[in-house]
Amino acid sequence: MESVKLPKIQAEKIAESITNAIMEHRIAPGSKLSESRMATAFEVSRTKINQSLLMLSESGLVQQLPNRGFFVSSPSIDEAKQVFFLRQLLEPEIIKELLKNIKLKDIKRLHRHLNAEKEARASSNRRLIIRLSGEFHMLLAEMCGNRYINKMMAELCPLTCLIIALYDVPNTPACPEDEHTTIVAAIESGDEEQAISLMKHHLTHIEMALNLDGSNNNNEVDWDKIIG
Ligand SMILES: [Zn+2]
Repeated sequence: MESVKLPKIQAEKIAESITNAIMEHRIAPGSKLSESRMATAFEVSRTKINQSLLMLSESGLVQQLPNRGFFVSSPSIDEAKQVFFLRQLLEPEIIKELLKNIKLKDIKRLHRHLNAEKEARASSNRRLIIRLSGEFHMLLAEMCGNRYINKMMAELCPLTCLIIALYDVPNTPACPEDEHTTIVAAIESGDEEQAISLMKHHLTHIEMALNLDGSNNNNEVDWDKIIG
């Protein structure tokens, strides 16, 4: 029986923990998300777990299969190409919007992010490198000031992490080293054409690194590791 004194963890927080774990490649694509095991691990009701999984289903990160429950999405090659196609359309526009009204504090935020990426690389913290790589693109979207673009990128970036987990050559980072630095330098100097060209090249570079023979992983998730 469930305790009436459950900790007040919101469904949004649980969804965020799962998204972070996906972005850090700590949960493999295709993994089963057992509601009862998650309820025990997060010390919340199954109802709350169900709410968080439904939220993630809406963003495409999780899929609900009839009579089988929830699974981390496992995007196909075609879906992976569709995600990159959309990012190639969106991210040059994000740069254009950002450059219209960029402030000194935005440039400072970008540099703080680059420093965090650099530190993660220096300490070979692979999980953090992968997550920060994705968050760089989400940061640009957040700063461009269009909430709908921001929302789309908040969905597309974790999906890209899943795609990379599925199809990338093992042990290569999500974003090639230094490419974010050159994009920020172009943004800082107000060179829109150069910043867009570098971003397009960067996205193509990531897509080209995909291994189209990647296979799925159907392991159970170790929730103790995810939460701890
Ligand atoms: Zn990147």
